Amino acid sequence: MGIEASCNRQINYLRISITDRCNLRCRYCMPPEGVEYKSHDDIMRYEEVERFARVALEAGIDRFRLTGGEPLVRRGVLKLVESLARLPGLNELSMTSNGYYLEDRAYELKQAGLDRINISLDTLKAERFKKITRVDGLDRVRRGIDRARKVGLNPVKINVVIIRDFNDDEILDFVNLSRKEGLQVRFIELMPLNGESKERQKDYLPTAEIITRIKQAGYQLKPLDIIGSGPARNYEIVGGEGRLGFISPLSHNFCSSCNRLRLTADGYLKPCLAEDREFKLYDEAGRLLSQENLAKILAQACRVKPAAHSLTKEQQLARNMSQIGG
Ligand code: SAM
Ligand code: SF4
Repeated sequence: MGIEASCNRQINYLRISITDRCNLRCRYCMPPEGVEYKSHDDIMRYEEVERFARVALEAGIDRFRLTGGEPLVRRGVLKLVESLARLPGLNELSMTSNGYYLEDRAYELKQAGLDRINISLDTLKAERFKKITRVDGLDRVRRGIDRARKVGLNPVKINVVIIRDFNDDEILDFVNLSRKEGLQVRFIELMPLNGESKERQKDYLPTAEIITRIKQAGYQLKPLDIIGSGPARNYEIVGGEGRLGFISPLSHNFCSSCNRLRLTADGYLKPCLAEDREFKLYDEAGRLLSQENLAKILAQACRVKPAAHSLTKEQQLARNMSQIGG
């Protein structure tokens, strides 16, 4: 079901950012020096996240995704996974991670109740990985992906942000990765959200061009109608095992079917990724609001969800992507 939102939408999905910290410095997401982190006192405690999650479930949200920053850098994350996974009525608990710490954590995460994982990986070349993330870690991430599949965090999805003249020559390599390893690869359009991405808008490459290049290379794509799959448009690669998804926030506005809200690590509820409007979940004394007031804020956030975002190539948002959670 979900919560009634503006423009006949039903909200049933909450992305929960549990930290604004990250071990990587992806160029389109963060400046090289990083961003000023919130103090621990300003970050929601796990018990508070769980309290809010209960209210959300009660209201009709039944899918949660943990994100960050990098969710695996926050201590005790397994405890949170365990407590959320056993909440009655939850349909799916997933995570978005850069995969750097996954090799050692995948098994425990699965045991704790995580259903599946999306891993961000923009290149299959070690030097390039270093360039985009400012950390030498491709091998670790590849091992993390393998481990996640082995322990059953499936379907493992790989998120690839495509940047013109940087990694667009790897589009077909990712298509092959999907075909050969049965991984779901999702190509994401670069969004103009701080990091270096504002200066790099010339590097934006629309989905249509990615699809054209894949077809020109001889691949046939068959559209898939996957209910509840969010903003991605999905395709099966004819003659292979893999699946491709395309997430096109700029060229193909998917707001009319948007089913999500976002909770920031410092306790604000955001109706829309691309807007600065947000609702604080704490009172003046720094206490999490009552169950009743949290439910009211949830309903209000759904009511004011914009009909369509105004994410343009010039927009400047108050938060970096790492502070929202993607
Ligand atoms: N650290 C985790 C990770 O990288 O998967 C979770 C948080 S990260 C902010 C979530 C997603 O946002 C990643 O898939 C990342 O590639 C994407 N992202 C960050 N900045 C972006 C941008 N400017 N345009 C498009 N996607 C972006
Ligand atoms: Fe960290 Fe994820 Fe942002 Fe990269 S995209 S800097 S891994 S939060």
